[in-house]
Amino acid sequence: MEGSLEAPTRHPIPWQDESWYDEAALEAELRRVYDICHGCRRCFNLCDSFPILFDAIDEAPNEEVEDLTPVQLKAVVDACTLCDMCFMTKCPYVPPHSFDLDFPHLMLRYRAVEHRKGQTSFADTQLAEMDRNGRLGTALAGLANWATDQDNGLTRPIMEKVAGIDRRAHLPPFMETPLVNQAAGIIPAPNPDGPAFGKKVAVYAGCHDNFNDGTPGLALVKVLAHNGVRVRIEHPDCCAMPKLENGDLAAVASAAQRISAHFAPLIADGWDVVPLTTSCALMLKFEWPLIEVGNDAVTQLSKHTFDVSEYIVALSKETGLAPIEAMPASIAVHFACHARAQNMGPKAMEMLRLIPEAKPALTERCSGHGGKWGIFKENFDRAVKVGKPAARNLVKGNPDMIVSECPLAGPHLKQVIAANGGEVPERIGHPIEIMAKAYGL
Ligand code: SF4
Ligand code: SF4
Repeated sequence: MEGSLEAPTRHPIPWQDESWYDEAALEAELRRVYDICHGCRRCFNLCDSFPILFDAIDEAPNEEVEDLTPVQLKAVVDACTLCDMCFMTKCPYVPPHSFDLDFPHLMLRYRAVEHRKGQTSFADTQLAEMDRNGRLGTALAGLANWATDQDNGLTRPIMEKVAGIDRRAHLPPFMETPLVNQAAGIIPAPNPDGPAFGKKVAVYAGCHDNFNDGTPGLALVKVLAHNGVRVRIEHPDCCAMPKLENGDLAAVASAAQRISAHFAPLIADGWDVVPLTTSCALMLKFEWPLIEVGNDAVTQLSKHTFDVSEYIVALSKETGLAPIEAMPASIAVHFACHARAQNMGPKAMEMLRLIPEAKPALTERCSGHGGKWGIFKENFDRAVKVGKPAARNLVKGNPDMIVSECPLAGPHLKQVIAANGGEVPERIGHPIEIMAKAYGL
């Protein structure tokens, strides 16, 4: 049966069900799904997982999935960044189709089994402690930034040897003061003449926004306040996306409980929640309700969470926006996977089209970074390879600016552009920074 005519759905993740961790059942499910993919092959160019799978089958004695060894089954999982693109953009066999195929969540199940067996690497475990690392990194910003600098020939080879972090990979520098601690000094009062006066937004600063780069947060609060929106910045904790990547679903459920409880009174008081990072928005909107099923605070939070560009576009329709200055600029827009996975369309394009005379152009390819996946030695070259089509497209026509909604994709794409021999832009920031610029803020 080809394709389903009904809207795709996703099943709750049964991470508390013992049978989900049964290794024989998992292997049988991997072989069933890989066999369907072998017959389909639509996803051949999305990432490295599928080429690894198809090459392994083509080189197998009978060219069948049943020939694959457990090591070959695992190699497919190890190359997956959980970008969700196969599920969201290609697969005709997702639920409610009878094939019931959710490739990324099958990869997640494999990682959950590995995690339960204590096979998550030390580096993966430590890097996933984003909040702890962020607090330490900001407190010791000078030392941390010296040690993690790509040009540091002393520390980076040691980090590569000890933690497996490729010495060429960009690691985001820390700010000296977390964004939430700057909030009192940077949030303007809402403009009483702004068209959205009376609206209230709690900006959820993800770890990168809070500890590493406050630029998108600063731009968003200015744009919102200029339009009359009352703003606050919150960072109750990490959304636990890096722990999801590790298959640590108990930790994800715990984060969902704590963070949704933090936002519950604000939501009850009429605040909307706007995460600055697409991966955090994806977690709050879609992944948490599948992991923390039946939790009312999680359900309410998912309903009241909006991506940055999605929120600005919605405001433009609901209340209108304050007049925006013309900006005759070509803007290459990277449509990050976790923005695409929110199933809302390319909202950054829609938002930038609100700027008179701006000419945004869309690139719908993965940057290849994949959270912390792309910084490891065994993945860095693959991360660059996967990102090459996106990087090539972004620099085509020599645009005035390049933007990405993913804060990790931006610096990585700069590295890929350099690897392609292209002219590297000074910054690949968030599209909201262009909005702030157009407003002259
Ligand atoms: S989720 Fe992304 S990286 Fe993983 S298999 Fe699908 S397309 Fe590839
Ligand atoms: S995930 Fe779906 S679309 Fe992609 S290769 Fe497998 S069956 Fe085909």
